[in-house]
Amino acid sequence: MNILDIINKFPNQESCIKFLKEIRWNNKPKCLFCFSEKVNSVLKESRYKCKKCHKSFSVTAQTIFHHTRVPLQKWFILIVLMANAKKSLSSSQASRDLNLRLATVWKMMHKIRKAMANDEIKLLAKILEMDETYVGGKPRKYNDVDNKNNSLRGRGTSKECVVGIIERNGNVKLFHAKNKSIKSEDLMKIVKENVDINNSILFTDEYRGYYKMNKILPHEQVNHKKYFSYNGIHTNTIESFWAILKRGFIGQFHWVSKKWLQSYLNEFCFKYNNRKEKITFKNITIKLFIKN
Ligand SMILES: [Zn+2]
Repeated sequence: MNILDIINKFPNQESCIKFLKEIRWNNKPKCLFCFSEKVNSVLKESRYKCKKCHKSFSVTAQTIFHHTRVPLQKWFILIVLMANAKKSLSSSQASRDLNLRLATVWKMMHKIRKAMANDEIKLLAKILEMDETYVGGKPRKYNDVDNKNNSLRGRGTSKECVVGIIERNGNVKLFHAKNKSIKSEDLMKIVKENVDINNSILFTDEYRGYYKMNKILPHEQVNHKKYFSYNGIHTNTIESFWAILKRGFIGQFHWVSKKWLQSYLNEFCFKYNNRKEKITFKNITIKLFIKN
């Protein structure tokens, strides 16, 4: 999946619409409201009118492409650019690549990220590692009062806290912890809601917040001072994941606002959780953007 394929396969708006019709309806349009297959195509190429409920609709209705003024080809290219960028893509870069206004691209990227969040994994299971990390941009100059702790590393900084749970050889889930000093109750709540606790074992570091975890599932803590890995008890998988995440945050998003942090995290999760499949543009479009 690369942008040359997209440009060759979808040279114009018509070819993009044709593709959406194919994947959405297998070329047999169905009413989006009453699901009747008796529909008339209306004068305008991409619209239909249902013979039963008389409502009209287009192939892009109920998708992120609805009512967009941006040519579909640019949307398709942006999806590929985002899916292929392991460390993610900044909106200013995408704005230059697609020759679109920054504000336009920014909104498009957030719509794509929102769709990526729908690909959520229900429950994580088996051998799991859990950890937190701290992300956030450079402190603003002359604003040291709020950011005086930014030079500290790890717990205790004024950056934003991200909690992650990862399956060895599997999927990851990430959570933006709204409280900077994350407590044991918060961590346990995340585990209860996102882990198949009857079929899992959890590895964490020795942070106090994890002490009570063994009340809800088998749990081992790694003493990083003594050894990084003892009989498979380690948190190397989540540590490697943090390395990818941080390169993304440092390299691409100079400053991620709190409001949008979870949305960026969803993008990282989606890409990590779909890394093994050879994702084709068709699969990704069906998975993320087409509701049947
Ligand atoms: Zn209908």
